[in-house]
Amino acid sequence: MEVFDISNQVNNSAPIKEQVEELSGEKVKKCYQCGKCTAGCPVAFAMDNPPRQILRLLQVGLIKEALESNSVWICASCQTCYARCPRGVNIPRVMEAVRIMAKNKGIMPEKNIKLFEDLFLKSVENNGRVHEMGLIVMYNLMSMQPFKDVTLAPKLFLDGKISPFPHKVKNPSEIKKLFERVREKEKGGHA
Ligand code: SF4
Ligand code: SF4
Repeated sequence: MEVFDISNQVNNSAPIKEQVEELSGEKVKKCYQCGKCTAGCPVAFAMDNPPRQILRLLQVGLIKEALESNSVWICASCQTCYARCPRGVNIPRVMEAVRIMAKNKGIMPEKNIKLFEDLFLKSVENNGRVHEMGLIVMYNLMSMQPFKDVTLAPKLFLDGKISPFPHKVKNPSEIKKLFERVREKEKGGHA
């Protein structure tokens, strides 16, 4: 279920740093290490190398450390860092590019992150937006932890936070088409 693997669009024989720059469309040398990105990142506390450090690792050629970092999997692509960056570095794109390179090299610091990501995207593709309850059930079953957080379910259910049925969205077929276009693009077609 490789939904957003776009690595076939880059020169795979180039050094990893160049591939990351090609994929992200960003030059990592633009970053002057002010740290405003990390200061604003809502999930930096959970990262082993917050955004400023990811940029620094790439700048100094510590590529393996960047690829093995959990940060690129934790990044929520919220764009806060991008909005704050005085140099206009599109950090979410850099994070995404490093994530793709890591995935292609089989570097997964936490295998269940990929499982969650794949199930999340599949749920969006199938329903037009994520169906939380379906996602939780599938994730728990496929990650072999069927009773994970099960005690939270009744309260979430009563509060209306989860439902056995997917939410209705307008034109779910349009969302499916987006996924199909991305797959076509991955194959090198013209979407
Ligand atoms: S905010 Fe921009 S310039 Fe500052 S450390 Fe982050 S990426 Fe670098
Ligand atoms: S896009 Fe990623 S790195 Fe940037 S602030 Fe959001 S979570 Fe943090």
